[in-house]
Amino acid sequence: MIKVTVWNEGLHEKLSKTVAGIYPAGIHNCIKSFLSSQEDIVVRTATLSDKKCGLSDEVLDDTDVLIWWGHMAHEKVPDKIAAKVAQRVLDGMGFIALHSAHYSKPFKLLMGTSCSLNWREGDRERLWTVNPSHPIAKGVPPFINIPVEEMYGERFDIPEPEQLVFIGWFAGGEVFRSGCCWQRGLGRVFYFQPGHETNPTYHDENIQRIIINAVRWAAPCRKVFNVPTGHSKISPEERLHEADAKKH
Ligand code: ZN
Repeated sequence: MIKVTVWNEGLHEKLSKTVAGIYPAGIHNCIKSFLSSQEDIVVRTATLSDKKCGLSDEVLDDTDVLIWWGHMAHEKVPDKIAAKVAQRVLDGMGFIALHSAHYSKPFKLLMGTSCSLNWREGDRERLWTVNPSHPIAKGVPPFINIPVEEMYGERFDIPEPEQLVFIGWFAGGEVFRSGCCWQRGLGRVFYFQPGHETNPTYHDENIQRIIINAVRWAAPCRKVFNVPTGHSKISPEERLHEADAKKH
């Protein structure tokens, strides 16, 4: 089983009737619900208002893939927790940054760039699958029309993606690298742009398919957390000199 933790700021749902109308149980529980429909995935949720943001060592120890949704309160996440999450990714945990999580502390730590972009609300998007043989694109059509979505436009200040799976086109003329993959240390990272809180994007079956695929892609093949990455002087595996051979 792949153990997923869905982390959500959980503020918009409390502050906006529109958002609460679209995601009555919160964005995290919407994501939990379609992930939980898969036989190989188990899901827990965590939010900003939970103790330690819901991300204790015990929870992270028990997480194969962490999904992150945040928008208006990135700064409220303590640096210590962000650093711990980034380290877990280096140790092998998968990390999926959704929508405005491009500005979340853990994602910025993992990318090492500003992760800035241009934006505008109230646009419509056509999301193009540009790498149909990638595991995250499995079963996803050549393009998906999203009737209302926030425009995110280039330049997106990220390191060059190792694999680019989706490109978003917006009615205003902009384009965006909407689905990007990287490896950081032993962990896999996927950034996925759609998912503004006032749009019902996470109710779209194709968007759900992409996030389900991303969980399977990002999950470590085996538990490799806390692998010693030593920096120590070691003896050679093989004999280096004749003199050594005589000793043996
Ligand atoms: Zn947004």
